[in-house]
Amino acid sequence: MINLKEKTAVVTGASRGIGLEIARVLASRGASIAMIATKENKELASSLEAEFNVKVVSYACDVSSSEMVESTFKNIIESFGAIDILVNNAGITRDGLLMRMKDEDFDDVLRINLRSVFICTKAVARHMMGRRQGRIINMASINGIRTQAGQANYAASKAGVIGITKSNSMEFAARGITVNAVAPGFIQTDMTAKLNEDTINKFKESIPVKDLGKPADVANLVAFLASDEARYITGQIIGVDGGLNA
Ligand code: NAP
Repeated sequence: MINLKEKTAVVTGASRGIGLEIARVLASRGASIAMIATKENKELASSLEAEFNVKVVSYACDVSSSEMVESTFKNIIESFGAIDILVNNAGITRDGLLMRMKDEDFDDVLRINLRSVFICTKAVARHMMGRRQGRIINMASINGIRTQAGQANYAASKAGVIGITKSNSMEFAARGITVNAVAPGFIQTDMTAKLNEDTINKFKESIPVKDLGKPADVANLVAFLASDEARYITGQIIGVDGGLNA
């Protein structure tokens, strides 16, 4: 039984989709939660707090801004006392064929999906190293491993997340900090709701388990990676994709 009592987790992109489910599952295991999204979600934080009887605070912070991340993480450490778990989950898509992709569509996706991992990790690294413990879980994607047309920006950002995960795992391993990435396949959230039914059905057909994933499928793995039981797992990219990348 995964027990995260006495732990504090920061979850980015926690207002909806996979991030919200991660916040819920970690809270259900006893962790206190700092939820980050572009806007403050006070009601959501209060409802999780009431449901799981743990401290939950919502922060508005653009995870691609060094200044905002530094001050937000400082506030979180002051308010919670420590950060034990960082889940770098916030992400966006701006799909389009390369010839039509605007420079800002490339830059925004790289900034929010990849730069954020760099700066949020930097914001907790010294703190975690000083405590000689920590869990960092980055949200990659199957698209960072094998991808499709129209996702040059997204695929590059997620391949980058895989790279930073491996490099950071080697830097932090001797300090008691593990760094792993989760690579979801097709998970039903707002992000994938943008796709048309035809595309969704084609995806479903190509997945060996013939079913789409749910946010809980990803969140349950994150909870395990965040636990003491996962102490010997680091530098790994673990798929949650119904066998798509088998
Ligand atoms: P989603 O439902 O679209 O939610 C995205 C989350 O990221 C929201 O909480 C959003 O906050 C937050 N966010 C976006 N830009 C931000 C910024 N600049 N600063 C802070 N927060 C920001 O996405 P999802 O499907 O749950 O995906 C979550 C992660 O899993 C992403 O990294 C995504 O690439 C990855 N992933 C998803 C799938 C899938 O099939 N869904 C597959 C593979 C990987 P607001 O509500 O404030 O906008």
